[in-house]
Amino acid sequence: MITRRRAFLQENIIIAGQHTPDQTTASWQQQLSQAIRDPAALCQRLGLSNQWLPGAFAGHQLFDICVPDAYLRRIKPNDPSDPLLRQVLPVEDETLTPPGYVTDPLEEASHQPAKGLIHKYANRVLLIASPACAINCRYCFRRHFPYSENTPSRVQWQEALDYLHADNTIHEAILSGGDPLAANDRQLAWLVKQLDSIPHLKRLRIHTRLPVVIPDRVDSALLHWLSNTRLQKVVVLHINHPNEIDQAVVDACARLKQAGATLLNQSVLLQGINDNVSTLAALSERLFEAGVLPYYLHVVDPVQGAAHFDVPDEEAKALVNQLLEHLPGFLMPRLVREVPGRTSKTPL
Ligand SMILES: *Cc1c(COP(=O)(O)O)cnc(C)c1O
Ligand code: SF4
Repeated sequence: MITRRRAFLQENIIIAGQHTPDQTTASWQQQLSQAIRDPAALCQRLGLSNQWLPGAFAGHQLFDICVPDAYLRRIKPNDPSDPLLRQVLPVEDETLTPPGYVTDPLEEASHQPAKGLIHKYANRVLLIASPACAINCRYCFRRHFPYSENTPSRVQWQEALDYLHADNTIHEAILSGGDPLAANDRQLAWLVKQLDSIPHLKRLRIHTRLPVVIPDRVDSALLHWLSNTRLQKVVVLHINHPNEIDQAVVDACARLKQAGATLLNQSVLLQGINDNVSTLAALSERLFEAGVLPYYLHVVDPVQGAAHFDVPDEEAKALVNQLLEHLPGFLMPRLVREVPGRTSKTPL
């Protein structure tokens, strides 16, 4: 994303489908470095006509394309309306600048007491464990995030850790990003070990899309540090459509659960992708089959370049009301919006 990795550009390398990590031909790092990062390669690979190219190039200038093969394989070729494709293919609409759509919709820049640390919610803090993501979602509210070149180094983490040690009202550390699991396991194991030693911390939460994008990310190195922390563990995945959950994702979820994590999911309500009752109901059902509980359904944050994904509030509320008739209460996500300055999500 912000770190331009076009240097690695390697197109169309197809990795054999494998559902168990550690015995595969490609590590998750290799799969990530081989992700498609080029508009023409993406269109060609999915059989899209040249009419999609100008939009793809224009959007790519604003926010790089990044789609690993493991995700790409779940996209139906020759179908410009595929709900997974629409999450990753830039289109001309991204260049629109309607009023009210800004570059820092959550005003996060103003809540950073230490490098890599955001403290805007009571009792919990966000640690930016990695600036990178394994996929670039076109509606991302961080598409303009001013990630400084790198993740904090160990020395720089010390300031954030000192802050955590000093405030005993903080019970939960949330690893965020980018995608925190884009960091390597040596760094993550070190960071979690530091968190372990903060007596008032109870929970470790990880907000990640990586187990969905590259299920092989949930490998033995990750499971090792995750299993070994004294903290209670919650992994919040990010899945918007039932087609994202293939067998490899189901298996990755099972491994996370076995390591002792509670699995939740957050989705974004996206026009033309999941803004209908049958898709949302199927998503909740499919999540539960994978051992994951629906948690939040976010309305799109007003970020510049993503206005075309917006679903009006009245429509969103009507959808959720209809959804109530199709699902048990425990499979109902909470419809929320992030309002700058508030100390929690705002229900709609
Ligand atoms: C909302 C949010 C949180 C805090 O979430 P709660 O579940 O309401 O505690 C943390 N991280 C991210 C990225 C969020 O969007
Ligand atoms: S994985 Fe999350 S943070 Fe990364 S681009 Fe997608 S929505 Fe944004």
